[in-house]
Amino acid sequence: MRELIDASPYTVAFTGAGVSAESGIPTFRGDEGIWRDYPPALYGNLPGLALAFLFRPRRLAGLASGVLASLLQAQPNPCHRALAMLEGEGRLRAVITQNIDGLHQAAGSRLVLELHGNAFRLRCAGCGKRTEVERERAFGVLESLRESGTRRRLLKALREYAAPCASCGGRTRPDVVFFGEGLPPGEFNRALEEASRCRLMLVLGTSAVVYPAALIPQAALEGGAKVVVIDPSRTVLSSRAHLHIPAAAGRFFALWLGRESAPGQYSADG
Ligand code: NAD
Repeated sequence: MRELIDASPYTVAFTGAGVSAESGIPTFRGDEGIWRDYPPALYGNLPGLALAFLFRPRRLAGLASGVLASLLQAQPNPCHRALAMLEGEGRLRAVITQNIDGLHQAAGSRLVLELHGNAFRLRCAGCGKRTEVERERAFGVLESLRESGTRRRLLKALREYAAPCASCGGRTRPDVVFFGEGLPPGEFNRALEEASRCRLMLVLGTSAVVYPAALIPQAALEGGAKVVVIDPSRTVLSSRAHLHIPAAAGRFFALWLGRESAPGQYSADG
């Protein structure tokens, strides 16, 4: 893979939930995935979440506190760090991510196109202003969620999270894309541009079945780019990819980073 990266004049990465699994954030699909206990028909879209709020507030609070706790505890793993290093060395142009956890930026990646938003950002319904959710406030919300067994308490926790807009006092909501909602057009168009321009795309930890994000690796393939998939499972892209490395991304890049800093000492096929 090192040869492919070194030979490529324009490389981008497309990442999904799998790259953060080794940071402790569960994926959606698979045996350990969130959808196993919380079916997406109810918990993956806004109308379903509203129903869950009305009829299953304790369960919804359990989901929200579990997700928030994992997001707050997570630290970048070697995959996030390797991508940031490659960008710093001019060997990677951009990271296009479906993740909402902010771990690429925490690792030092600069050009990160977040197709599904960021869990630590709010968007004002009135003026559209985006604001960051400070960690301290998020920890406070987590405490409230853990005490939430009733609709009233859950509502209080949600209001603590989505505080009114500091500019116009308008209602805010998490700046994330739920199923059935559109992607931020600026990010999506820029991602499509990067995908059509790249000569090599690293597709890391994504089942590549969530649309329209899944159009990104397809655009890379249609533009003639080589695609390398790193994922322990075969995915819909594996048969069209130049190379599928059946590995956990964090483990793979830990070996890669070791080889970059001490060439010859590691045996991974980096
Ligand atoms: P997905 O759950 O559909 O697929 C995850 C993929 O990661 C699978 O192919 C799985 O085999 C692979 N995987 C699991 N562990 C891995 C590892 N250690 N290394 C590499 N690959 C691994 O997730 P998706 O494709 O990202 O799409 C679903 C949606 O999930 C996206 O919209 C994303 O926004 C959302 N999501 C994000 C987070 C996050 O921000 N960390 C977490 C869960 C879900």
